Amino acid sequence: MRLSTLTLRHFRNLCDQDLELPPEGVALIGDNAQGKSNFLEAIYYLEIFRSFRGAPDEQLVTFGADVFRVVGNAASSASPDRSTAQVTAAFERKGRRKKVCVDGAEQERLGAALGRLAAVIFSPADLELVSGGPKERRRFLDIVLSLNEPGYLGALQEYRRVLLQRNAALRDALPASIVHAWDPGLIESGAEVIRARRDWIEGVGPAFGTFYARVSNDGRASMTYEASVPLGHARAAEDVRAAFHDAVEGASERDRRLGTTTVGPHRDEVRLALDGTGDGLDLREYGSGGQRRTAALALRLVEAETIRDRRGETPLILVDDVFAELDEGRSERVLELMEAAEAGQVVLTAPKESDVRFKRQTLARWRIKAGRLTT
Ligand code: ATP
Ligand code: MG
Repeated sequence: MRLSTLTLRHFRNLCDQDLELPPEGVALIGDNAQGKSNFLEAIYYLEIFRSFRGAPDEQLVTFGADVFRVVGNAASSASPDRSTAQVTAAFERKGRRKKVCVDGAEQERLGAALGRLAAVIFSPADLELVSGGPKERRRFLDIVLSLNEPGYLGALQEYRRVLLQRNAALRDALPASIVHAWDPGLIESGAEVIRARRDWIEGVGPAFGTFYARVSNDGRASMTYEASVPLGHARAAEDVRAAFHDAVEGASERDRRLGTTTVGPHRDEVRLALDGTGDGLDLREYGSGGQRRTAALALRLVEAETIRDRRGETPLILVDDVFAELDEGRSERVLELMEAAEAGQVVLTAPKESDVRFKRQTLARWRIKAGRLTT
């Protein structure tokens, strides 16, 4: 997708502005703390209606204001008629009310409005995807699959709802019949989540390895799914369901003892490992700073490829000053990879003009100072 206009009202430190974005994109240059990341946060808010930095909505409203609003007009790069969409998101601090509109129509279910920009954001915080706990990687999976796999978000929400109920029953030591009444719902929705995660990771695993190898020049790394549920040879939906069913039954005693559901996709892990010398070493524990950063980049490149494959869209690429910790060689190779793959629009930020290396020739330069953009 291409973002053609962006309207900002009371978003973080950004001044109220109405902007027109060039089709190739823009490089936003400014000193620290001027609002560069905030600008990308505002754009990506229109993709997932949340902060990509995980900040609560309250924090996004300009200090002293009550409501923020972001409006974007986007045009498809794929459909022959270049269909367009206007996405509006607003949040009111006082009433803690979020409102999302697509083409002027208020969306009852946020899930239905997700992903209109087909955007991917590369940020320094991505390092957490590799260095952080399993929860970070599950969150990544959930966002990518909610945006790209029809039905995933619904299954995930149902799973969470049932899990909460089942855990409450276990915690309160209610009779087994009450605990197990939740099992069919848990297994049905959970199996769908498991299957989607496994299929996606298996599908993009090779691309992850390729991106990693190309950026690092010689290094090898792999991404594999470590399901909490032993899947064995289960492939088809009914086999995954059966495997989850057996696992839930097998864990029944333990669940009761520990007062919580101990098996299921909420305990999944995505394993990122260094291959080659030191085979199978966990990147999280053994990776150097550069290796972990490279793996994080590979995850985002895989995400961009998923958007292309599943949605048939050229992704809108947002890059928040991510080359800081890569050595020169790695940076150059990432840039080459991105330049080769990304024919679409790019919005990137950098502290200095000389840091703009990606699409150096084609990108317009904008400046930002104290939240005011000059184009
Ligand atoms: P860096 O180069 O260090 O990454 P940046 O340009 O990306 O800097 P931002 O993260 O966008 O900077 O933040 C800019 C400023 O926005 C910070 O000084 C912060 O205090 C301010 N800020 C954050 N939230 C709000 C808010 N709700 N209202 C007003 N200002 C805010
Ligand atoms: Mg920043």
